Amino acid sequence: MFSFGKNTFKRTRGGVTPGHFKNTRDCATEQLPIPDTVRIPMAQHIGAPCQPTVKVGDTVAVGTVIGLGEGFMTAPIHASVSGKVKAIEDFIMPTSARCKAVVIAADKLQTPDESVTPPDVHDFESFIAAVKQSGLVGLGGAGFPTWIKLSPKNLDQVDTLIINGAECEPYLTSDYRECLESPDTVIEGVQLVKKYLNLQHCYIGIEKNKPEAIAILKEKVQGLDGIEIKELATRYPQGAEKVIISEITGRRVPMGKLPADVGVVVLNITSTSFIARYLRTGMPLVAKRVTVDGDCVKNPGNWLVPIGTAIADVAEACGGCDKDPAKILLGGPMMGTCVYADSYPVAKNTNGLLFFSADAAGQQRVLACMKCGRCASVCPMGLMPPQIYEANKVKDIAELTRLQVNACMECGCCSYICPSKRLVTQSMREAKATLRAAAAKKQ
Ligand code: SF4
Ligand code: SF4
Repeated sequence: MFSFGKNTFKRTRGGVTPGHFKNTRDCATEQLPIPDTVRIPMAQHIGAPCQPTVKVGDTVAVGTVIGLGEGFMTAPIHASVSGKVKAIEDFIMPTSARCKAVVIAADKLQTPDESVTPPDVHDFESFIAAVKQSGLVGLGGAGFPTWIKLSPKNLDQVDTLIINGAECEPYLTSDYRECLESPDTVIEGVQLVKKYLNLQHCYIGIEKNKPEAIAILKEKVQGLDGIEIKELATRYPQGAEKVIISEITGRRVPMGKLPADVGVVVLNITSTSFIARYLRTGMPLVAKRVTVDGDCVKNPGNWLVPIGTAIADVAEACGGCDKDPAKILLGGPMMGTCVYADSYPVAKNTNGLLFFSADAAGQQRVLACMKCGRCASVCPMGLMPPQIYEANKVKDIAELTRLQVNACMECGCCSYICPSKRLVTQSMREAKATLRAAAAKKQ
């Protein structure tokens, strides 16, 4: 049962069971050829965008800092290729965020920046400073700066670390490949986080549809104190932060609160091993493993892609498309963002690139709501989308607040299950925007 302040929603679990479509599970990670140019956006994390720290004509190397932010919620941005800064241009992210983008013409030498050396880490403060310098943001897709996540104000009340290896979105196998290809590095990362945050218990949560990942990590944690593999039911959105906390610890994160408020820090599994690699090498976050799939792609697979590489360049490296994609998704089909041009670049938190034909994308006619209640029955947060939709139509702020629309995590379960093919998640987003606008007006 999720409890949000005064209102209490009686939920057992919610969620849906879409097809897995993990077609690329056996595709080992391949290095994408270095593209001629990369376009690196300055908005790759939650919070204000960074500002470029380089100018046109500057020479950069792999790992050179090219963007820094002034706000608290920020993470530096680094060059993913060596070469020359060709342009600094205005850019609109697929999420509509506006920012600058640094365009680099690659020299294909991949010369590392001279600052790329293992950081001096010996205590909590130096550990957090290193994670900040690494530019790491949540690699599961959220883009939350990891150094902030690892340094909550009430760290002394946190007792549990959850490593999120659920990867419940259909198609995506990026985290799964990390478990198979780098299990020792995953465990090294877990031990580093446990050590510097002084956490006694760690659970690595993985869905049961990944038995090979479960087996290899179970083998690696044998004999290690305080690290346990938790096999999770295969059910979307098992990897959502609030859901995985509830499934593993039974603790419920109230609306507007953070995992640390219930004594938990949650970290994506690829983020965890990235920390271990960064402490060993000092190479910041300049490349991301991306699952490339969909019925249009000739050769689906998992690719290590320099950040800023255009979608078109990734598609070409996979042999191109054998039919015209009608829909390109950054991320999975449940929470991914649809993009309108294949010139968009891969960002730090891009974990999938899906190319679907019109047939596969399955555009269907939207019908009237038949008040069947299925959307409410699958909502992991116990929300009532039809009532929220009606309240938003008349901009009833009090009712939207009472219905707690801000608890919506935009997981997409309601749209998935709707027999009338209504854009239910979209209407939740609109209702949240209504509340945000009302709050801004009040201020
Ligand atoms: S998108 Fe929001 S309303 Fe819909 S199921 Fe997910 S949490 Fe519930
Ligand atoms: S699932 Fe669709 S048709 Fe059923 S109540 Fe929700 S919005 Fe209406």
